[in-house]
Amino acid sequence: EFSEIALKDIDQLASTSFPLCMRHLFDKLRETHHLKHGGRMQLGLFLKGVGLKLEDALAFWKSEFSQKVGAERFDKEYSYSIRHNYGKEGKRTDYTPYACHKIISSTPSVGDHHGCPYRHFSEENLKAALGKMGVGGRSLDDILDKVRSRHYQVACTLTFEAVHAASCDSGINHPNQFHSLVEFDEV
Ligand code: SF4
Repeated sequence: EFSEIALKDIDQLASTSFPLCMRHLFDKLRETHHLKHGGRMQLGLFLKGVGLKLEDALAFWKSEFSQKVGAERFDKEYSYSIRHNYGKEGKRTDYTPYACHKIISSTPSVGDHHGCPYRHFSEENLKAALGKMGVGGRSLDDILDKVRSRHYQVACTLTFEAVHAASCDSGINHPNQFHSLVEFDEV
């Protein structure tokens, strides 16, 4: 179980301890004030796993979406699915965040930002994204090698190691693990 996170810390957290798949969704949401369904599910459940409380999640999504579609439309069309993710609507299932294999095997279309960047980005876009995280040189070459041999989670693990200058022997198989490893790292 993760501790709760405060809404005010979320940008800081995104830049230091989100894996690339979630960082990409987060940046796109901040930039365009919108995400399609697949992205809302992938990021929304991740944030829930990170410890964002329902009321903060609603405030977070509303602050972005209302800039694009207006507050009223957000309340009408989008808030339901957020409460649903937290088990507050419909069958009241408490949905769990997606694991890497599910994200890697998803099939994002044009305009979608969900999925795993190691699997779904072009090499050029992946290089640029990793560069923004401060990954270059030998580490970058090693990561791209793993991507070419389709070892996406290994590539993600190597990214974690490069960014945090720490080893991650267990490997990454869940995006929320990335976050918890950072917490552990900083204790
Ligand atoms: Fe996200 Fe997993 Fe892909 Fe890493 S390997 S970017 S955590 S889906």
